[in-house]
Amino acid sequence: MDDNLHPQTRAVHPPVIRPVDSTPLTTPIYQGHLFSFEDAKTMAAAFEGPARTVDGGDGHSAFFYSRQGNPTVRSFEKAVSDLEGGADALATGSGMGAVNTVLMTLLRSGDHVIAQRSLYGGTYVLLHDLAERWGVELTHVSGDDPDEVRAALRPNTRLLYLETITNPTTQVVDLPALASVAREAGVLTVVDNTFATPMLCRPLEHGVDIVLHSATKYIGGHSDLLAGVVVCADPAVHHRIWSHATELGGSTDPTTASLAVRGLATLPLRVARQCENALFLARRLAEHPAVERVYYPGLPSHPQHAIARRLLDGGFGGVLSIDLVGGREAGRRFTESLRLVAMAASLGGTKTLVLHPASTSHRGLDAQALAAAGIGEGTVRLAVGIEHPDDLWNDLEQALAADHRE
Ligand SMILES: *Cc1c(COP(=O)(O)O)cnc(C)c1O
Repeated sequence: MDDNLHPQTRAVHPPVIRPVDSTPLTTPIYQGHLFSFEDAKTMAAAFEGPARTVDGGDGHSAFFYSRQGNPTVRSFEKAVSDLEGGADALATGSGMGAVNTVLMTLLRSGDHVIAQRSLYGGTYVLLHDLAERWGVELTHVSGDDPDEVRAALRPNTRLLYLETITNPTTQVVDLPALASVAREAGVLTVVDNTFATPMLCRPLEHGVDIVLHSATKYIGGHSDLLAGVVVCADPAVHHRIWSHATELGGSTDPTTASLAVRGLATLPLRVARQCENALFLARRLAEHPAVERVYYPGLPSHPQHAIARRLLDGGFGGVLSIDLVGGREAGRRFTESLRLVAMAASLGGTKTLVLHPASTSHRGLDAQALAAAGIGEGTVRLAVGIEHPDDLWNDLEQALAADHRE
């Protein structure tokens, strides 16, 4: 540094160290949101698209402002894109940020969307909001029948929106069959792959165009971050979404992205264990007299078991639901009697969680309204974690017994 500068100036300009002959073993957190340039031409190029780095090592990094791109966030995007088999990805501040970014980019007033009926609550509300306030036409389909999708097509249909495994009844969608109907009609298919994760299913391999995740769930994996990610098969679609995302402003922050990258390292191990635990519990619960019905794609009794066997590889997911014999009261007592399993409204973390919609998230609905939402009064969702399966079963068993005792 120039020896003539005053301390006030020197304090503001410490040296910034860029490793040259070595590479950090873990993803560094580039918390600063700005990058400076030596020449105008390089800076101008940075405005053109998402910065290139991690790939190729061509040294052509063109980060300039972190809403547009950040090396830590880019590391997360590239890692998820690779796992999903995409051309490129884009991280967002939450899963709903990912859903919003995709819908707001690809739709305009007068367009038509075909969407599965049993969607994540936030997505369902958002689609109906777009329909009411922005004049987007919306048709719901069951997700079980390609002919129903074909019949719903209109000249202005732009998107088919699906989820690999749904909440809470674990419906599994025949992605290849439905996506091929959309593809023939020139309609893009978007799949929320949060519940399956790229470990169990890679929708792009089945003809889907865009995959998105709430990384808050399995990818983050420890219930300590909020993030989303969108992966595209076509780089041109990615560029369109990226451009609009920078205007929407839903980008994620570098510290969160670094936690998400850390989460990815153990995703295969966690998901494998969660699937094993969930199958173990689903089988035991299916034999328990207090349980009327178990919803888990790994059980032969599940309506889409055959599809799940074809589509999911290495397991059937970490979420299962049950209908308790005693209805609404039984659901409340059961969830309140659990000691190890916590009552909370999320999934995908290391700890097993339980949710009884009829006494919490959906308490305002009567039996009929619940049924319309595909939920029973005694339906309880379990988001299974990575604990020892015997400890989980012991807790469920004592809570089911408590339900009988009262
Ligand atoms: C949680 C969730 C979302 C929303 O994600 P956030 O990170 O909470 O915004 C979207 N889709 C599915 C399937 C989810 O489970």
